[in-house]
Amino acid sequence: MLNSLIRVCYIGLSVCILLVSASTLRDVEYSDDHYCHSEGCTEAGRSITSKLDRSVDPCEDIFQFSCGGWFKDNPISEEWNEKSPLIDVSLQIDERLLELIRQDGWEFKGTPSSAIKKLKEFYWSCVDMGAIDEKGAEPLKQLIDDFGSWTVTETEKPWEKDKWDLQEAIFKTHAWWGSSFFDIGVSADEKNGSRNIVSMSQGGIALSELPESYTEESTKDFFMKAAVKLGELLGGSSVNVTAKMAKVYDLEKNLAQIFVPKENLTNPFNAYNLMTLEDFQKLIGSWINMEKFMESVFPELDWRDEDELVVITPEYFKELQNVVQDTDKETLANYIMWNLILPTVGYLPEEFEDVNIKQATESEDKAEIPLSRQTSCLQKAVKVMPFAASALYIDLFFSQETNVKVVIAIDDIEHEFINNLDELHWIDQVTKQNLREKAESMTNQIGFPDWILNPSKLDAYYDSLVVNPDDFWGNFINANQFQSNQILESYQKPPDKRKWDTSPLEVNAFYYSTENQMVVLAGILHEDIVSPYYPTSYVYGKLGSIIGHEIIHGFDNSGRLYDKDGHLQDSWTPHVAEEFDQRAQCFIDQYDSYLVYNHSLSGSQTLGENIADNGGMRLAYRAYKNSIKPELRLPGLNLTDDQLFFVGMSHFHCGLFSEDSALFRLRTDTHAISEFRVIGTMSNSRDFAEAFNCPVGSPMNPEEKCEIW
Ligand SMILES: [Zn+2]
Repeated sequence: MLNSLIRVCYIGLSVCILLVSASTLRDVEYSDDHYCHSEGCTEAGRSITSKLDRSVDPCEDIFQFSCGGWFKDNPISEEWNEKSPLIDVSLQIDERLLELIRQDGWEFKGTPSSAIKKLKEFYWSCVDMGAIDEKGAEPLKQLIDDFGSWTVTETEKPWEKDKWDLQEAIFKTHAWWGSSFFDIGVSADEKNGSRNIVSMSQGGIALSELPESYTEESTKDFFMKAAVKLGELLGGSSVNVTAKMAKVYDLEKNLAQIFVPKENLTNPFNAYNLMTLEDFQKLIGSWINMEKFMESVFPELDWRDEDELVVITPEYFKELQNVVQDTDKETLANYIMWNLILPTVGYLPEEFEDVNIKQATESEDKAEIPLSRQTSCLQKAVKVMPFAASALYIDLFFSQETNVKVVIAIDDIEHEFINNLDELHWIDQVTKQNLREKAESMTNQIGFPDWILNPSKLDAYYDSLVVNPDDFWGNFINANQFQSNQILESYQKPPDKRKWDTSPLEVNAFYYSTENQMVVLAGILHEDIVSPYYPTSYVYGKLGSIIGHEIIHGFDNSGRLYDKDGHLQDSWTPHVAEEFDQRAQCFIDQYDSYLVYNHSLSGSQTLGENIADNGGMRLAYRAYKNSIKPELRLPGLNLTDDQLFFVGMSHFHCGLFSEDSALFRLRTDTHAISEFRVIGTMSNSRDFAEAFNCPVGSPMNPEEKCEIW
């Protein structure tokens, strides 16, 4: 399947709770005329206070102090794997959007809009269970016949061993959304920003996020349960499905064994291997003709031996031919078809939706969050037409005032990064000059792209997407084609820094290292996060820390290896780089020592995010201290502004997770579990210790602290 762009995001959620009892906070007294008593202020004060647990000493456990009240009000229940205020924000956005999408008519800003019409029709085709059930599994059976056959089930066309050709099957399925054996993507060339380039990476297994889990018996159980269910729904017998899919499982297990471990790819130099097509052909072996492969995926282009591509995992491609050669033809055919079928299960009658392997590994049969059909259809529509959905929402619910505030905060915080450099005595002048230039060159995109609010531009963007109100399956096929075409087109153009590739409604922010660019999405600027009634200190703690985090990604263990133009190039003086690594080791050791349900967190897996959290909060705090203006206080808070900053940062991360969910994230997430995103960062912060007057040696103010930025 085609992918685009490499990014580092802010959120991966998590939690478990540490209960530590302690003394109460010192009360802070102000006279009555210092308070704002409007309805908005009262509600904002109530919202912050209700999340606190004042029975806990913040110097013992700032996470429980900040979020204990919220935990009490939001117990994790049987059907939920995760809960957090950020999930609440996402659900609130969905709820508002659902109401808009279900309204009659397709006008946008007073004119009929074909894009809004397509968005609504996509949604309605998804909730129309009558039409979906009537077609049943037929569309999928037809697809299987079109691509050959699946001997796991009975379809119209019997599988013909002599006629079936491995290469042809790979060419054909990769030109759709299949990704058997490997992934192919298009993104900016990390060493030559003027061009987009094709990249090839290991892939093509159902559990690609957790390849090492294939050796566990429980993984095989989940896999087989999903495969047998799918096979039976397509008319296969349980005995036949079990026997044949067990072989497919073994093939995926063998592929997983040659996967390059994720930690070997953290250094972007290891993942950048520029090769000609000819050299890549030699590496992968003669079992597949790569020139023909490229021409089937990019039908408009002529590929020549000297054309270049980036190979992310050369070791994997070298071993791949042995696995392919050791597997019988029928299993290869069944694997390729399984790989093609799996992404389609969400577009068939509801019983197919249970065939969700990723969900199964995360936690038995539970979804992260249980969703109604309406909400899951809304999310599918947003995924296909993110800009049409965002336009509807943003037109009504996004405030330009917020946008302006964010731009000011970004300026302040970037400025603090540059100011802070003077205090970093371990960095020499040459490296400092590089860092200064990179910070000054960093660009940003805030909220959403302007063009989406222009009805004719919005319509033009979705012009080639065909949507029918009563053909959900057909809409899925068309949407895939539409998205593939966009990626194919991007290959023939230079990278566009103004391009958005994420739904503006995601509650998230990113840093793109190849573009030296920060993106703060409209979803994360929701009023629960940046209410105009919140004190400046609290907003800087929440939103400022996110902005600081994204800026620091440009200077974390991976981001620091890209220059101001986003080119992969280590421009640091060697002895400064060595000092950086030593300081990074301090973070690795610190986070390695944290336990989640008796399992250790991985300090190296989460290193980049931890560096970003620590440096980002420090910058945001300084920016807040330099931007203080007199303002009215919220009633009932009894916290100083400085304390509110740290409570704000913590409130961004309140969250509850079931044990299964927490352990899954522990193995896959590059972010630390949220409890330790808060505790780890605060216990390194002298500003925090001062704000709460924490004695040296208390749990949140240890003598030894880690610091890079
Ligand atoms: Zn991040």
